[in-house]
Amino acid sequence: VNPNLEIFSQGEEIITGQTVDTNAAWLSQQSIALGFNLTRHSAVGDKIDDLVGVLKDIAQRADCCICTGGLGPTSDDLTAEAVTLAFQMPLQFDALAFQQMQTFFATRNKAMPESNRKQAMLPQGSLRIDNNSGTAPGFALQHERCWFVFLPGVPSEMRQMFQETIHPLLSKRFELKPSRLITFRTIGIGESDIQQRIKSLRFAEPVQLGFRADTDEVQVKLLFPSGFPDPELKALVASVYEKLGRHVFAIDGWSNASGDLVSVVDKLMLSGNHKLAVIETASQGLLAAKCIGSNWLLEAHYHQSMLNFAERRPVPIDRNDLIAIGKELAFKLQKSIGVNLVLIQIYAEDFAQFIDFNQTIKMHCLLLNNQEFVEEIFLLAGSAKRKQNQAALLTLDLLRRNLQPDSII
Ligand code: ATP
Ligand code: MG
Repeated sequence: VNPNLEIFSQGEEIITGQTVDTNAAWLSQQSIALGFNLTRHSAVGDKIDDLVGVLKDIAQRADCCICTGGLGPTSDDLTAEAVTLAFQMPLQFDALAFQQMQTFFATRNKAMPESNRKQAMLPQGSLRIDNNSGTAPGFALQHERCWFVFLPGVPSEMRQMFQETIHPLLSKRFELKPSRLITFRTIGIGESDIQQRIKSLRFAEPVQLGFRADTDEVQVKLLFPSGFPDPELKALVASVYEKLGRHVFAIDGWSNASGDLVSVVDKLMLSGNHKLAVIETASQGLLAAKCIGSNWLLEAHYHQSMLNFAERRPVPIDRNDLIAIGKELAFKLQKSIGVNLVLIQIYAEDFAQFIDFNQTIKMHCLLLNNQEFVEEIFLLAGSAKRKQNQAALLTLDLLRRNLQPDSII
C-alpha cells in the first residue's frame, strides 16, 4: 500500500474564501503523481488553538503532510509557534537562514526589517528548506507517525521549493510506486457518447476508468497501477483511441500531442511554419484571444454577422449565398496578408438568435488551406457565452484535424 499524505493549508484568507486554495490542488496532483495515497485536505485560519489541534491529529493518522502558509514575519503568521506548542519542539535561531535573509534584502538594496528575524527561528531538530525566491525558509520534521513539510503560502515560492527540494526528499524517504495516468482529451463529443463508444471494451480490474467534462473538453482517464503489464496497457490505449478517433486531440502521459487544444494547435502551426488569418463571427474575438502570444496568427477580424457584411458590399452577390462570399473573402485575405491558412465562420441566423439561450445556431466553418477549402457545420447551443466558446474551440479544432497526422499514438 502507498503511504498516506495530507495537505494542510493555513491562513484566514483561505477560510474566508478571499484566496482560493490552489496550493492544495497543485500539491495534491504532484503527490498523487509521485505515488502517494492522498487522503485529506484541511484548512484553518489564523487561530493558534486550531492550528495546534490539526497538527496533533495529523501526526497520528498520516504518513506525510505538506503544510503551506503562515511562515511570514507578521503577527498572523503562526505556524512555527503552533509546531512548538503541538510537538514540544522549542524554536532555535538558525544562523544560516538569517544570513540568507540578509543576502535577500541586501541584493535588493533594502534594509531588513527587525520583524524578519522571526523567520530565522526554526523548530529545534528540524531540517531547513531553503527558499531561493523569497525570505521565509521552510522546514521539515518527523513527529510521531508523520513527516511534516512546512512551506510558505506564496504559490511561486512554494512550487519552487517543492520541485527543488521536497520532491527528491519524498522519493528518498518513502517507498513509492507511482501509478500511470493516461488522459485522452477530446472535443466535439459528449460524455455519454464517449461512454457508449467504449462500453464494449474490457478493462482489467486494477485499471481505473474516469471521465471529466468541463466547458472546453471531455477527458477519459485511465489509471494503471505500477507494474501493470506493458503489452496490455498498450493494447488498451490503442483500443480506446480507436473508439474515440479524431475527437482525441491529445493524449497526456502517452503521446507527443499533449496539453490543451490551443497548445496542440500551437505546436502544429510552429512545426509546419504555417500562418493564419481569421474572420470570426460567432466566436466574437475569442478565437484570437485564445491564441494569445502566438506569432502565427497574423490577423483576426470580427463581423457581427456575415449577412450585414454581405449587404454592405458594393458588388451585388446573392445575399443568401454567404458561403460564396466567405470563400471570396478567404482568397482575398490569403493574398493580401500572405498566409497559407484562412479560417472563416459563417452563420445565417440573426444576432438575436445568437444571444437567445433557447435557440441554436448553425455555424459553417471554412478552412482555406493553400488552394483547398474544407467545410464543416457545427451546431452551437446554449447561452451566448457558451456559443462563443464552442465556436472558438470547434473552429480551432477544424484546423487541428487538418494539420495533425491521422494517428497520434
Ligand atoms: P509571507 O512571507 O508572504 O507572509 P507566508 O508563508 O506567511 O508567506 P501567507 O501569509 O499565509 O504565507 O500567504 C501569503 C500569500 O500567499 C497570500 O496572501 C496568498 O495570496 C498566497 N497563499 C497563501 N496560501 C495559499 C494557498 N493555500 N493557495 C493559494 N495561495 C495562497
Ligand atoms: Mg504571511
